[in-house]
Amino acid sequence: MAGRDPRYDILFEPVTIGPVTAPNRFYQVPHCNGTSDVSPRAVARMRGIKAEGGWGVVSTEIIEVSASTELHPFPSLHLWHDDDIPLQSLAVEAIHEHGSLAAAELGHFGIAAGNRYSRVPPIGPGSIPTLESIEPVQSRAMDKADIRELRRQHKNAAIRAKACGFDIIYIYCAHNLSIAQHFLVSRYNQRTDEYGGSLENRARLLRELIEDAKDATGDRCAVACRLAVDEMMGEDGLTFDGEGRDVVELLAEVPDLWDVNISDWSYDSQTSRFAKEGYQESFTKFVKSVTTKPVVGVGRYTSPDKMVSLVKRGHLDFIGAARPSIADPFLPKKIEEGRPEDIRECIGCNICISGEMTYSPSRCTQNPTFMEEWRRDWHPETFTANGADDHVLIVGAGPAGMEAALTAARRGYHVTLAEARGELGGRVTRESSLPGLTEWARVRDWRDYQLRQRNNVDIYLDSELAAADVLELGAQRILVATGARWRSDGTGRTHVRPIPGHERALSADAILDGDAPAGPVVIYDDDGTYLANVLAEKIKAAGSDVAIVTPAAQVAPWTFLTLEQHMVLTRMHEQGIAMHASKMLTRIDGDSVTIADAVSGDESDLPAAAVVMVTARDPIDGLYQELAAQNGALEDAGVTSLARIGDCYGPNTIAAAVHSGHSAARLLDIDVDPDDPYKRPRYDA
Ligand code: ADP
Ligand code: SF4
Repeated sequence: MAGRDPRYDILFEPVTIGPVTAPNRFYQVPHCNGTSDVSPRAVARMRGIKAEGGWGVVSTEIIEVSASTELHPFPSLHLWHDDDIPLQSLAVEAIHEHGSLAAAELGHFGIAAGNRYSRVPPIGPGSIPTLESIEPVQSRAMDKADIRELRRQHKNAAIRAKACGFDIIYIYCAHNLSIAQHFLVSRYNQRTDEYGGSLENRARLLRELIEDAKDATGDRCAVACRLAVDEMMGEDGLTFDGEGRDVVELLAEVPDLWDVNISDWSYDSQTSRFAKEGYQESFTKFVKSVTTKPVVGVGRYTSPDKMVSLVKRGHLDFIGAARPSIADPFLPKKIEEGRPEDIRECIGCNICISGEMTYSPSRCTQNPTFMEEWRRDWHPETFTANGADDHVLIVGAGPAGMEAALTAARRGYHVTLAEARGELGGRVTRESSLPGLTEWARVRDWRDYQLRQRNNVDIYLDSELAAADVLELGAQRILVATGARWRSDGTGRTHVRPIPGHERALSADAILDGDAPAGPVVIYDDDGTYLANVLAEKIKAAGSDVAIVTPAAQVAPWTFLTLEQHMVLTRMHEQGIAMHASKMLTRIDGDSVTIADAVSGDESDLPAAAVVMVTARDPIDGLYQELAAQNGALEDAGVTSLARIGDCYGPNTIAAAVHSGHSAARLLDIDVDPDDPYKRPRYDA
């Protein structure tokens, strides 16, 4: 091992936070995982692996402080009661095992809470329609007794966090999800008592919550304040050069640590399509100039040089990371061991967030082991050695095939990866050439580099294999990863039959492969993800007018799950891309299309020199089917297993393809009980 480059020594300096000391400057800030108390051992194992990977501080996601606040069905942790202590201690133990500090993000959702589980009215500075609910729920305006009760509950939660063994206790004031923030901002706080009016009054609750936690736990625990210094809404909210800065000045020395970001969550966790590494710097860099306390900030940092520069320039004391720590839990270790080129960089796609948004165990495009650490016993860096000295042939080098090849190779198999095209990456290569998606190429590039470091992998490009070629290669295990192709007939979720005139339409693949149709172009989007709108951007950039037609109520509904939808709509608008939502494409004629309103059925025409369908895909599984049909020949050729993976098995996201390839290679020679494929929490009542 080369050992650490001295340039990066500064990142490994210990830093004192109140009464505790972090072993280095790598700080995993709080992040959700779609699981929380639904599977606490899964969360504890995931956090423990972050500590093992070198993160000096590892934080929880939000821990609800009391039954007066909850976001059900979004998964959260709880410290409502002393009986919750054992469960939350699991993560602390896992983090401490590797010498890292454990941080507890205590939170009260205020007017963001729906309180669907508890059925008590949410509380806040006033009576306001709640933020995270489409139900007709309003918060109850808190009186002084309510504020005293909130402080009691918050303080007790801090005492319980200390009893769990946490080293850092957070007071949460960010993402528009916190009662402290709701009191802080004048758009919600119109109180006339000492908790309303001046900024000092509006910040009173935040100050009291911090001071209460320090009084109760400060002998052993540091108390951190997580603050949104800018809410990206101009004078309606906090701004980094206005009240956001004033709050930090007002409370500069009150907490032991400032964890600062921008709000709401969609701005804090922007995708690479809309923001590049370091995108929060201009908002948060002032903080260190107004406090002597250590400061942590985020910005999807994956480059160690950039991290060093942030510390040296006095912008941050800690390099905060949520997504980069998910994509590579061993990022700090890889820098420490002098192999930063092995860092698997986050691509900024927010698939991880879509897990939380769908109340399901989170997943990561780059790290297929995320949230599989406990239930499948998948460690991101260690692999069970292969059981037999088999040769594995993988056909197709998209994300599924590349990940399968790498995982099988890491397990010690001899791997052959054959790809029909002249380049690796499959859909990743094609999609990452679309506007804004350049960073997605990291999915290919990291695997390409890793595969080329190994001497048990042979890669063949320009090698389209037929069934006879596969058998001739003499591999014992065959994984078919041949992908999927977009349909051009318009069938999909909405249309069960081809749309009349579809023979004139292009598929999304045609544009991905470089077709540049003359306008006006109509894109029919029944897929709802990013694809139709990035294709629209590409076509527009090439000089053609474009309109998106979608049966969905709003363009790109899926991008709500990746926190991008409002940015997608703004970008379409800014680029002059017309949007027709709630419209079905009913017919394609010579130079126009007919669309029908999804509610009234009223028809109208749009000019269309070309039509692009983004509706559904067909698996390319002919090779697999042909091989599967010739059982005898497979046996004769010595083949012991044949399987399909990725989009050729079930068209899905790139993350799902990577996971599918990883899983297939992990389990090549391992029997899994099909009725109980992974560990689950089992309840006795
Ligand atoms: P996935 O997302 O499942 O990895 P992709 O569509 O990204 O799927 O990648 C599939 C890859 O398989 C493409 O690069 C394609 O060129 C390749 N491919 C398809 N058929 C064959 C074949 N018969 N032989 C070799 N490669 C193939
Ligand atoms: Fe990064 Fe995407 Fe993984 Fe989230 S899912 S950590 S954004 S690579």
